[in-house]
Amino acid sequence: MKKIVLKILGIVLVAIFFLQSNMAIAASSLSDVNKQIEEKEEEIDEIQEEKSATMNEVEELTLQISEYQNQIDELDSKIDNLNNQISEAESKINEAQAEYDKQEELLEARLVVAYEEGETSYLDVLLASESITDFISNYYLVTELATSDAELLESIQKQKEEIEQAKTNLENSKKELDTSKASKQSVATQLQSSKNEKDAKVAQLSSDEKQAQAELEQFEADKREIQAELARIAAEEAKKQQSNGNNNYNSVANNPSSSGYIRPIVGYSITTGWYGYAGHTGVDFSGSGIAGKPVLAAKAGTVVTSTALKNSDGTYRSYGEYIVINHHDGTMTLYAHGAPGSRLVREGQSVSQGQQIMSVGTTGNSTGYHLHFEVRVNGKPVNPAPYLP
Ligand SMILES: [Zn+2]
Repeated sequence: MKKIVLKILGIVLVAIFFLQSNMAIAASSLSDVNKQIEEKEEEIDEIQEEKSATMNEVEELTLQISEYQNQIDELDSKIDNLNNQISEAESKINEAQAEYDKQEELLEARLVVAYEEGETSYLDVLLASESITDFISNYYLVTELATSDAELLESIQKQKEEIEQAKTNLENSKKELDTSKASKQSVATQLQSSKNEKDAKVAQLSSDEKQAQAELEQFEADKREIQAELARIAAEEAKKQQSNGNNNYNSVANNPSSSGYIRPIVGYSITTGWYGYAGHTGVDFSGSGIAGKPVLAAKAGTVVTSTALKNSDGTYRSYGEYIVINHHDGTMTLYAHGAPGSRLVREGQSVSQGQQIMSVGTTGNSTGYHLHFEVRVNGKPVNPAPYLP
């Protein structure tokens, strides 16, 4: 019997231990996960700050690139314009060249004619002329033509040279623009490469942020799980405690308290406490089916009172059937309202702890079956509850 009691007690203790340790583990996990959530949130904040700063840099770079691109576009349009002017000049030069070649050919042809017709000197023309009118006409023709042709050629040549000079100027301007464009393009390329780096960084930070968010969600899920686990453990513990409490009122759990007392009755709890009503100098145990249940000596001792208090008409009064035990440690216990004739011990008799001394009744000043129990220290009633397990 004792072994079984120890075994059951052991199981109860182990269960309590595990409950408490699970509770402790869950509580410490909750604190861990709260810390993790806090850290993760800080990490996300940092990532978002860096991302936002980098995005601002990207925006700034985009503006700069677009400005450079505008300048390059402007240069391109100027260069195109110059190219057009250059090719226009080229075609004019070609035209002039063609004109020159043509005029030169014409002059050569005329000179050949003039030569074939004789010396184109004044005398030659004079001699070749049939008349003075003819001479004037011929001379005029040759010299004027020659002069005019030479002048024309010279003019064409000059015009051509001017166009060539203009073309050279245009080409120089174009070279300058090309150089400027190349330098701007190089800057734009650098900016673009810098922007590409920042874009990559933003992408990386976004990915980091996503990762951290996912981790945060996981931690929050963990937290919910732990909280649910804590709630479950708490509910289980409450249930266990309730059943442990019930066990205390069963024989198995009626172990002596630190003051060395056991409960004077098992399976029932205190329903009216110390001064539960004015002048109530003890505690009452009651509950369904209590009538006739054994009343036990709370501690070993000597019976100092075992009697029934009755009126003159034979009816019970006050404590009714009652017993007082002296425990020889300055304390005494009193058990009242026992069932009529149920007292099992007489005055002067030694009793052991847990020994049945009478049965529960409702004799004396009582309105229903219950056990009235008192503890007296040096003869004065005190609250019995702290003495009981
Ligand atoms: Zn009472």
